[in-house]
Amino acid sequence: MNLKQYRSKRNFTKTPEPNGLKKIGQKNISKKLTYIIQKHDASHLHYDLRLAWKGTLKSWAVPKGPSYNPKEKRLAVQVEDHPLAYAKFEGIIPEGEYGGGTVMLWDQGTWEPLDNPDTGLKKGKLTFYLHGEKLKGEWVLLRFKTDESKAQWLLIKKEDEYAKKRGNKRLLASASVKTGRTMKEIAKSKKKSLEKVK
Ligand code: MN
Repeated sequence: MNLKQYRSKRNFTKTPEPNGLKKIGQKNISKKLTYIIQKHDASHLHYDLRLAWKGTLKSWAVPKGPSYNPKEKRLAVQVEDHPLAYAKFEGIIPEGEYGGGTVMLWDQGTWEPLDNPDTGLKKGKLTFYLHGEKLKGEWVLLRFKTDESKAQWLLIKKEDEYAKKRGNKRLLASASVKTGRTMKEIAKSKKKSLEKVK
């Protein structure tokens, strides 16, 4: 597990995000592989898809969010691995800190790889089932470009009983699966989340 990049970007005396130093094994969270999406209102609103694999959360920032329409391919920029504890995080990253803004736990559940994820991550094709509260069914991540540090992937819904012909604007705007709060309500809780840091 390599969280060097994750830690180097953040000041844990200022942000309430987990520092990843506390050892939380996957088995302590769930016997299955954790899947989550966080809605993150940073400099640009995006959705962070995270899939637990080998002790970290593999992570992609999806600017437009996932779509149930197989024709709507969504850009997913791979970002640094996050600690498993991040799967529970909802709150506010202080302004001026890395990723400053409101974070909502938008979806949570488990994922089920359909191929070997190590091979998939290397080759740039990850196929899997999502068993989330909001996202279900078969999905694929396809890498199409690798810049110096960032790999660009596409997140695509596969045709199955969950696929839809239309987009899912209302779903993307839906509230937290953890607290039922809207983005606005989480943003208002600023004081509370800052107190937690102390
Ligand atoms: Mn983010």
